[in-house]
Amino acid sequence: MEAMRIILLGAPGSGKGTQARRLAREFKIAHIATGDILRRAVEAGSALGREVAAVMNQGGLVPDTVMVDLIADRIVQPDAARGFVLDGFPRTVDQAMALEKLLDRMNLSIDHVFHLNVPEEDLVKRSVGRRVCSQCGRNYHLAGAVPRHPGRCDECGGELRERDDDGEATVRRRLEVYEDSTRPLADYYGASGVLREVDGTPAPDVVYHSVTGWLRGAGRR
Ligand code: AMP
Repeated sequence: MEAMRIILLGAPGSGKGTQARRLAREFKIAHIATGDILRRAVEAGSALGREVAAVMNQGGLVPDTVMVDLIADRIVQPDAARGFVLDGFPRTVDQAMALEKLLDRMNLSIDHVFHLNVPEEDLVKRSVGRRVCSQCGRNYHLAGAVPRHPGRCDECGGELRERDDDGEATVRRRLEVYEDSTRPLADYYGASGVLREVDGTPAPDVVYHSVTGWLRGAGRR
């Protein structure tokens, strides 16, 4: 199969991470989750981590210049040569334009953009009950996708933690930021014909099948 470059758009808690992990595994492409990269930097106490910790904790956006540098380094790594699924980037129209320029220079482009749609109250519930594996990043939920052993990841045994920005007030702030800065990307990609609106409310398996159904159909054309 040809290289595949995918963007997942969606509000916090819409299921981007869960879908992106599975897509990356199945299509053997890189899963590039900017939030995970930043959280690791914060945990490691690196210069980048120290720069972004406060804004992340408040649910704000890290400056575009920082994010564009980060993504420019990441998409040229060997594991991204067969393609990638971007989870959490771009988050502003300026980031999307910068990404397009980076890819243009490499003679590449984005093939598919999926926008996962979930109503706001469900988003709050999903984020507030979320637990994330501190080792592999897999997501769980207190009222749904519970792990087999409390507090431990089914896949790697890592410790499950609550994200610092998943408290209700911060989640609501992140949703506002999404509406103001990120939702306009649906129009941006809609205009270029690569956007696919996906109902993100059903179980993860159902969402996954609607995404892959589209990918396989598009691949056959
Ligand atoms: P996420 O795990 O995707 O929800 O990201 C967690 C936090 O990291 C966000 O609330 C932002 O503070 C920051 N972040 C992640 N990706 C980006 C991005 N593309 N642009 C700006 N900030 C970002």
